[in-house]
Amino acid sequence: MNVVVCVKQIPDPAAPQSLEPGTNTLDRSGKLILDDSDAYGVEMALQLAEQAGGGEVTLVSMAPNGETSGLRTALAMGAASAILVSDPALKGADALTTAKVLAAAIKRSNADLIIAATESSDGYTGTTPVQVAEILGLPSITFAKSVSVDGSSVKVERQTEAGYDDVTSPLPAVVTVTAGVVEPRYPSFKGIMAAKSKPVETLTAGELGVDASQTGQEITSVVEAEARAAGEIVVDEGDGAQRIVTFLEGLKLV
Ligand SMILES: Cc1cc2nc3c(=O)[nH]c(=O)nc-3n(C[C@H](O)[C@H](O)[C@H](O)COP(=O)(O)OP(=O)(O)OC[C@H]3O[C@@H](n4cnc5c(N)ncnc54)[C@H](O)[C@@H]3O)c2cc1C
Repeated sequence: MNVVVCVKQIPDPAAPQSLEPGTNTLDRSGKLILDDSDAYGVEMALQLAEQAGGGEVTLVSMAPNGETSGLRTALAMGAASAILVSDPALKGADALTTAKVLAAAIKRSNADLIIAATESSDGYTGTTPVQVAEILGLPSITFAKSVSVDGSSVKVERQTEAGYDDVTSPLPAVVTVTAGVVEPRYPSFKGIMAAKSKPVETLTAGELGVDASQTGQEITSVVEAEARAAGEIVVDEGDGAQRIVTFLEGLKLV
């Protein structure tokens, strides 16, 4: 079974972040790492391919400056190859443009299943994977907390507020996984060494036939979030419960 995993490479969240002057977009010029959210998708894909007894895991990523550091981490976990789309024309790309690019790259592979994270750690619109599914004309199942493949269908336990739904879909399909769907493995030393020579095909938007002349958005300004106001301390003098109800009524929450 061939599984494609969408992996986003992001600036290290542990490092100081800055905005590019003029564009108000996140400075992505430094080293990019594998988004933690996508490590779960990579692990899920590896386990499904292993269980199927054959097939490969291919990574697809769109990132600036030909960046492959995050891809190499996922290759070290065990993915076989990667397609990277990197193009200055994609600067400032919104989620829909990203979805068009990823869908065009996915079309180049013979995917039975496409896995992405429910949302990324930095942009987190949580819309890219379902847009990819729509563009490819495939069913999509979101918020998977468990994934299994049975012949030509995929079975998913889809996380809900109350518990989970059992969802079955024919393959190929797009599935987004939550953190906790599986525990990602740490790349072994052997895996890290092997990843250095695994194939990464780098393409531009034009080579994929995607028009990047309109990337979809302009960030006109960025303002700091308001500091939180100090809370109000209520001393319970026997009327605590009523005062909480009155407070919540004031906020129209009850
Ligand atoms: C202001 C701004 C500027 C940007 N500038 C650039 C740029 O200069 N160059 C550039 O390449 N991109 C750029 N992007 C694209 C951006 O990095 C995201 O890929 C895209 O907007 C998706 O948004 P998201 O993080 O909300 O994805 P979500 O929908 O939250 O992501 C869900 C999942 O979809 C998959 N996914 C999302 N994005 C990617 C990706 N890029 N590659 C592979 N899988 C992905 C991952 O599995 C991810 O976990 C920019 C985006 C914004 C908002």
